[in-house]
Amino acid sequence: MVDKMKLEEWMRPSIRTLKAYESKSIPDCVRLDANENPLPWPPGMIEQLLGSAIAFNRYPDGGAQELKEALSRYTGVPAEGILTGNGSDELIQLLMTTFGGEKGAVVIHPPTFSMYEAAARVTGTGVLEVPLLLTETGRDFRLDVEGILKAAAQPQVHMIVLCNPNNPTGTLFPREEILRIVAESGKIVIVDEAYGEFSGESVVDQIPYCPNLLVMKTFSKLFAMAALRLGYLLGQPSIIGALNRARQPFNVNSFSQKAGVIALNYGEEYAEQGRILIAELARIAEALTAFASVKVFATRANFLLFQPEDPDRVYQELIGKGFLIRTMGNLPLVGKALRLSAGLPEDNGRLIKALGEILK
Ligand code: PMP
Repeated sequence: MVDKMKLEEWMRPSIRTLKAYESKSIPDCVRLDANENPLPWPPGMIEQLLGSAIAFNRYPDGGAQELKEALSRYTGVPAEGILTGNGSDELIQLLMTTFGGEKGAVVIHPPTFSMYEAAARVTGTGVLEVPLLLTETGRDFRLDVEGILKAAAQPQVHMIVLCNPNNPTGTLFPREEILRIVAESGKIVIVDEAYGEFSGESVVDQIPYCPNLLVMKTFSKLFAMAALRLGYLLGQPSIIGALNRARQPFNVNSFSQKAGVIALNYGEEYAEQGRILIAELARIAEALTAFASVKVFATRANFLLFQPEDPDRVYQELIGKGFLIRTMGNLPLVGKALRLSAGLPEDNGRLIKALGEILK
C-alpha cells in the first residue's frame, strides 16, 4: 500500500519545493536568537494567571470576547476591528489564505521577516520582492516607496506587507512613507508592528481613516509570551470580518486568552522592561561599534543586525562561550550577517566580554 503513495506527486506544487522550518536549540546557551523579552513577567502576573478559573474541559471562546475588549481598551480600536490569532504567524498565513492564493500576490521588501514569503508559498500566493535600499552610510536602510507602489499597481497584487521596525534589520521606516503607500496603493497594507512597542511608533491611530490598513501585533516580544502564541490584527470591521470567514473557529486557546487579558493590566511594568532592554541593546551596540571591522546597522527594535568580517566564526565561537545568536544566511544588500537581541543585563555584560575576546 505504502509503496503506491505518491506523496511528492499528490502534494500541491507550491508545497513540493518547501523545506520544513527548523529552529535551533542548543542546551545551556543564553538565547539571544529569537528577539524575545528575557525578563521575568511582572510580579504577581503568573500567580494571577494560574489562579484564574479556566474551564479546560470546554472549547475556548472562539470570538475571544474578553480579550478583544481588553485589547480594545489598550489600542483604542473597537472590538469588531480586532482578530486574535495563535501567534502572528497564524495571522500571516490567514491573510495569505484569505486574500492570496493562486490568483493573488503580495509585495514584500527583502530583507524582511521570512514568514511572509513562507506563508505565501504554502498558500500558493505570488511574491513580488521590492528590496530595501541602503542609505549613504551603508549602515541603514530605507523603503523603495516608488518601487513598492509600482509593483502594487499590478492587478494580481492584493497585499503589501511592511515590517516596522523591520526584522532582521531593525530599521524604523518613516510614518509618512508608510501612510503614502497606504493612501496611494489602493491594496491591503499590513504593517507588522511586532516590535512597535520598542520603537514607540505605530500607525494604529490611522485605522479609522484607512479601510485598507491592517496593523499586526504580538504578545511574543515586549509582552514576553512567545510560548503562549498570541498575536492580533487591528483594522476596520469589514476587513476583519473577511478574515474571520477563513479563521479556524477555536484558534486561540483559553489559557492564552486569559494571559493576554491579564498582561494588558501590566502596561507600566512592561513599558519599563522595554526601556531596560533598549538601554541594554544600546550598550551592546556601543561595544560592537568600537570594532572598526564590524558593521553595526541602525536599529529601533530590541535586536540588532551586525556584520563582522567572518560571521560564521563569530557565531560558532559565541556558541562555545555559551551564547546562541542568529545567523542570517545571505541577506539581500547585506550578505551574511548576524542578529542578536538584548538579553538579561547580567548576561549582556558577559556577552560584551565574549564579543571583545572573539573580535579582538
Ligand atoms: N512578525 C515579526 C516581524 C516577527 O519577527 C515575528 C517573530 N519572530 C513574528 C511576526 C511572529 O510572531 P508570533 O507568531 O510569535 O506572534
